[in-house]
Amino acid sequence: MTEDASPKKELAAIKGTKDILPGEVEKWQALEGLARETFELYGYRELRAPLLEATELFEKGTGETSDIVTKEMYTFTDKGGRSLTLRPEYTPSVVRAIIEHRLDLQPEPMRYYYMGPMFRYDKPQKGRYRQFHQVDIEVFGEKDAAVDAEVIEMADTLLRKLGVEERETLVNSVGCRACRPAYSQALRAEAQKRKNDLCPDCQRKAETNPLRIFDCKVESCQTVARSFPLIQDFLCGECISHFNKLLLFLNQYRIIYRVEPRLVRGIDYYTKTTFEIVSGHLGAQNALLGGGRYDDMMKEFGGPDICGIGFAMGMERVLAVAELAPAKRKSLYLAYLGEEAKKAGLELARFLRANGVECLVEFKDRGMKAHFGRANKLEAAWVLIVGEDEMKKGRFGLKEMATGRQVDGTRDELLTILRGE
Ligand SMILES: [Zn+2]
Ligand SMILES: [Zn+2]
Repeated sequence: MTEDASPKKELAAIKGTKDILPGEVEKWQALEGLARETFELYGYRELRAPLLEATELFEKGTGETSDIVTKEMYTFTDKGGRSLTLRPEYTPSVVRAIIEHRLDLQPEPMRYYYMGPMFRYDKPQKGRYRQFHQVDIEVFGEKDAAVDAEVIEMADTLLRKLGVEERETLVNSVGCRACRPAYSQALRAEAQKRKNDLCPDCQRKAETNPLRIFDCKVESCQTVARSFPLIQDFLCGECISHFNKLLLFLNQYRIIYRVEPRLVRGIDYYTKTTFEIVSGHLGAQNALLGGGRYDDMMKEFGGPDICGIGFAMGMERVLAVAELAPAKRKSLYLAYLGEEAKKAGLELARFLRANGVECLVEFKDRGMKAHFGRANKLEAAWVLIVGEDEMKKGRFGLKEMATGRQVDGTRDELLTILRGE
């Protein structure tokens, strides 16, 4: 809607948010259905956490120096004086829920998925929203690099089912507590030397978290970052072995990947494996999904020492490149003529719906011609005609709109036809 056409600006949708209307929502439902089906084949179960969390959860989890926490959170004080945040990502919520409900003591595997809105106060631009949507999966308690590969393979499988043809898988290791400090130190030293070539934001990152400079989109910063030392030269024995195993399992799954040594992802908690699947079609903002391992978060939250790995997929971005053709619905339009026929029509509609037929009924007196006009507009597959004659005989007329074929029969006979039996 243009500015002029909007009657009252204050009643328009909030900047950076968007209505998903019928006509478009079918693609979302198709994506959600395929995601659910795929994840459950790998033993994942849905875990729904609240949209609102204590602000501290993300400061602690996502990281106090991350862009998400420093610039992008929707944080407010509620009437009780608590600082709350609309979740900018999902992982910290799952970790909190596991600790809170001691899910680690249950016999079921700790594999969870979720789909829903996330909130970041980001510059709204093409394909980016402040309320955006993610599909998220997390696995806990599996140290073996085989699960890292399985998670990537599952992501790849889902994207293939969604018809995302041109995609590339990038993998890296960001090290662990044992080996990353030395790397951070080397980066910091290098960043200090090149400080004048960095944007103000990265000058700050050079002090707080130099790894972040890799994520900066400013051209001069990217040039500087290309000359930085690489993490691969700093990884400890355990991290090297984990990474090599990951690559081996990816080969076994026949996943084509590229090792991208500058892939650090913009979040503090990653350890060892990080990965992204990018699209060839989206330009600079081309990551369809990204994730990694986070072996320390649970412990840092005061929970048990349980490792985790997961990914988040941007639903808007995936829908922009997915080839989804939701099945066209086959609905029946019920045309009744007069008050008595209306009662019989409603009973018929109840019967058909109870037997799985989608019935469109509108409560407006119409003549036969107007009914057919309306059924055409609604793109109904069938029109069911209920008039006084039909009522007396207990036989009703059914017209297939595409072919013009018309039959009459009892409701049971018609149901058989409608079901294509
Ligand atoms: Zn290490
Ligand atoms: Zn920068």
